Amino acid sequence: MGHVVVIGAGQAGSSCVARLRNKGFDGRVTLIGAESWPPYQRPPLSKAYLMGEMALERLYLRPESFYSEQDIDLRLGERVQSIDIGAQTVDLGDDVLRYDELVLTTGSVPNRLPDAIGGALEGVHVVRDLANVDAISPRFASGARVLIVGGGYIGLEAAAVAAKLGLNVTVVEMSERILQRVAAPETSDFFRALHRAHGVDIREGVGLKTLLGEGSVTGARLSDGSEIDVDFVIVGVGIHPGTDVAEAAGITIENGIKVDEQGRTSAAHVWAAGDCTSFPYRGGRIRLESVPHAIDQAECVADNIMGAGQEYVAKPWFWSDQYDVKLQIAGLNTGYDRVVTRKVDADSVGFWYYRGDTLLAVDAMNDPRGYMVGKRLIEAGKSPDPAVIADPETDLKALLRE
Ligand code: FAD
Repeated sequence: MGHVVVIGAGQAGSSCVARLRNKGFDGRVTLIGAESWPPYQRPPLSKAYLMGEMALERLYLRPESFYSEQDIDLRLGERVQSIDIGAQTVDLGDDVLRYDELVLTTGSVPNRLPDAIGGALEGVHVVRDLANVDAISPRFASGARVLIVGGGYIGLEAAAVAAKLGLNVTVVEMSERILQRVAAPETSDFFRALHRAHGVDIREGVGLKTLLGEGSVTGARLSDGSEIDVDFVIVGVGIHPGTDVAEAAGITIENGIKVDEQGRTSAAHVWAAGDCTSFPYRGGRIRLESVPHAIDQAECVADNIMGAGQEYVAKPWFWSDQYDVKLQIAGLNTGYDRVVTRKVDADSVGFWYYRGDTLLAVDAMNDPRGYMVGKRLIEAGKSPDPAVIADPETDLKALLRE
């Protein structure tokens, strides 16, 4: 059945090759990864693994032996330099592989601070891969002073781990509030209060002007004119899709590698899945940065390589762990005009996003039932009356039967 080459041995790449074999694909399969570890899960990198509570092997998505047992040629520590679409080849620098079908699962690249404001100083870190976290971990010692630039999920998760380990933590967020890009003010308020209760200094509406230090970072000057001393810095200012190799090959990029409903790129025999793609969604085009999306889209692509001809229907969900709070998010809140609060008990609350009468998304804190019911309602296109949701007496599960 030919040779399928997958570039990017992360969540999506691993899911794609496993699915091919699971569905009986008996051609040649090659999975190429620039990192030196077998495919692993990233979420614990800013949670349990950073906390030192998870062994390396438990990060691996599949046992190392899986790939050889499944006759998957896993080539680690190798970066694809270029793709020749006409010749149907990928160039690894010291080797060239011919493909019949090519899948791009090249993930995302963390945004970094410009060198001009100290981005290249020693002690300035990002949290994207294992190498990053292994470099940060030794600095997570009680009493150390860390500045976290950016109050998104990854920055806040790192802040939570640091605070739990006894570091002095400052978070600067240049927007008006933390989580502004992804959540309602209610969710921002919840997490601000949570972090402050753990001693984290959260400064909103305050940007980083420049980092200070000769060689290594020793401080930071902020946009409000204040200066703080720091021992190290974590930069959590978002990511951009890993499109460079695709773009150089002439593949269409539109906020990520542009794919159609089935995961095909603009080039014949080239597919893409995961963080690196933008794909059709409810009449528009979106990009998602989440594990469930990476798995589902990659499996859909594998099925389509085998001729299934099916459309990928994203069912967005996401989670974040901070202290003893588990946040679960169902749906996408884009375009919401109203947030309904459902207070379950002292530790559990849900924020339900509506546009008009339509339920769009749910942020559920320590409320697995609210999350689960919200997710199923959204997927079924059902929108309960907001007053019913706000009433803590409502039996949520009954709403699924209506
Ligand atoms: P990746 O897993 O990033 O894999 C892409 C791989 O491709 C990388 O290993 C890269 O090195 C490789 N690659 C790129 N270019 C080349 C090339 N030219 N040649 C060879 N290899 C190449 N999502 C959630 O749903 N919940 C969470 O709680 C959550 N927490 C997260 C915490 C952290 C710290 C991070 C970094 C991410 C988190 N995410 C979370 C996001 C989630 O991990 C990603 O959405 C997911 O990993 C995307 O999978 P992917 O396969 O598209 O990309």
